[in-house]
Amino acid sequence: MSDTYDVVIVGGGIAGLSLASTLAGQCSVALVEAEQTLAYHTSARSARQLIPSYGPPVVQELTVRTLELIAERDAERPQQVLTPRGFMLIGDDATVWAEASGHMRRITHAEAMDLCPVLVPDSFSAAGLDTGSFACNAPVLLEDHRRRAEAGGVDIITGARVHSAQRLGTGWELGAGQEGFQAAVVVNAAGAWADELAVLSGVEKLGLQPYRRTAAIVDVGNPLPAGCPMVAAADDSFYFRPDGGQVLISPSEHVPSGPEDARPYPGDIERLVARLNTITTLGIRDVREAWTGLRTEAADGVPVVGFDAEATGFFWLAGQGGYGFQTSAGIAELAAGLILAGQGSGIAAATAAGASPASRTAEALAATRWSIRR
Ligand SMILES: Cc1cc2nc3c(=O)[nH]c(=O)nc-3n(C[C@H](O)[C@H](O)[C@H](O)COP(=O)(O)OP(=O)(O)OC[C@H]3O[C@@H](n4cnc5c(N)ncnc54)[C@H](O)[C@@H]3O)c2cc1C
Repeated sequence: MSDTYDVVIVGGGIAGLSLASTLAGQCSVALVEAEQTLAYHTSARSARQLIPSYGPPVVQELTVRTLELIAERDAERPQQVLTPRGFMLIGDDATVWAEASGHMRRITHAEAMDLCPVLVPDSFSAAGLDTGSFACNAPVLLEDHRRRAEAGGVDIITGARVHSAQRLGTGWELGAGQEGFQAAVVVNAAGAWADELAVLSGVEKLGLQPYRRTAAIVDVGNPLPAGCPMVAAADDSFYFRPDGGQVLISPSEHVPSGPEDARPYPGDIERLVARLNTITTLGIRDVREAWTGLRTEAADGVPVVGFDAEATGFFWLAGQGGYGFQTSAGIAELAAGLILAGQGSGIAAATAAGASPASRTAEALAATRWSIRR
C-alpha cells in the first residue's frame, strides 16, 4: 500500500529541506532521506559562508536573493542564521582581478593586513574584499526548515533509501526502504547521488560530477581577530576563517569522486597546515577534526533546477556545487514556483501536460519577476 502525495522530495540535505519548507502548506509533500539523520552528507560538511561575489552570475543573483529571504526569517527567529563576515581574496594582481566581480572591491595591501594581521606581508600582492558576505549558522537554518516543513504538514521519512521509481499513470511510484509512495512530482535532491537516482528512475542522467572538498578545525597559537574575514587564495589553493577561538581551514581541492560517504585522504590537511604555517603567523598546532564532503557540479557549474524535458513530473534540484547554502532559499523559491505553476489546474494537471522543459537555473531565473538588489 503506497502513501499518495503531490510531491515526493528525495534527499534531506539543504536542497531538499529548503524546498520542503517552501512548499509546506501549499500541496501535500513527503521528504524521503536514505540516512537515519537529515543533512548527514555534504550539508553537514560545509564551510558555512554565504558570499555574493562567489560563483557565476546566476549563482550570485541567487545568493543575493537567498540572503534577503534568510534575513527576513531571521527577524522572526530567536537564533540568527546570518552573522556578517567579510570575504577577502588574496594573491597576485592578475589572479585576484580575474576572480573579482561586482560585489568585490579592490583594497590596498595595508587594508588587507589590517583585516588579517596574521598574513605574512610578502605572501600576497593584491587583495579584494566582499563586505556583503555572511557566516551562516547551518544547524539553525536546517532545523528551521525541518520545523517549518513539519508544521506545514510535510511528512519527513528518514532511513529510507529510494530503491525503485517508475512512472505510474500520470505520476510516479517509488519504493523506499519498506515503504511505497505515489506522487505527481518526484524531486531529485539526492546531491552526489542525483544521477544515480535518475538512472534508477529510468531518466537519462545529466553527467553530474561529485568533487571532494576537505576542511578541518585547527588550534592556533595566534588567534584571528574577531572581525577577520574569511580569507581565500585567488588561485583556489586554500581558505581559512575564524571559528570561535579556532580556525577552519581547507585545501580547496577539486578532486573527482563517485557518490560516497567521503573521508579525508591522509596528508591533505597536513600539507595545508605546513603551508599556512609558512604564509601566516597563525602557528597551527593541532587538528581538532577534519572532514570531506562532495560538491556536485554540472559541466557548466550552474545548478540544475527544473523539470526534466523527457520524463514528465521528474524535477531536478541538483548540481549546487560549492553554493548549496548560499543559493538555498533562492533556489527553493524558484523550484517551488515551477512546481506549483499552473496552480489553477493543480499539480498533477500541470506536470502531466509535460509542458515544462528541463530548465537550467539561468533560464528559469529569466522567467521570474524577482527584484534582485545589487
Ligand atoms: C568542505 C565544503 C565546504 C563547503 N562550503 C560551502 C559554503 O561555505 N557555502 C555554500 O553555500 N556551500 C558550501 N558547500 C557546498 C554545500 O555544502 C552543498 O552545495 C550542499 O550541502 C548540497 O546540498 P544537497 O542537499 O544538494 O546535498 P546533500 O547534503 O548531500 O543531500 C543529499 C541527500 O540525498 C540523500 N540521498 C541520496 N540518494 C538517495 C536515495 N536514493 N534515497 C533517499 N535519499 C537519498 C543523501 O543521503 C543525502 O542526505 C561546501 C561543501 C563542502 C564539501
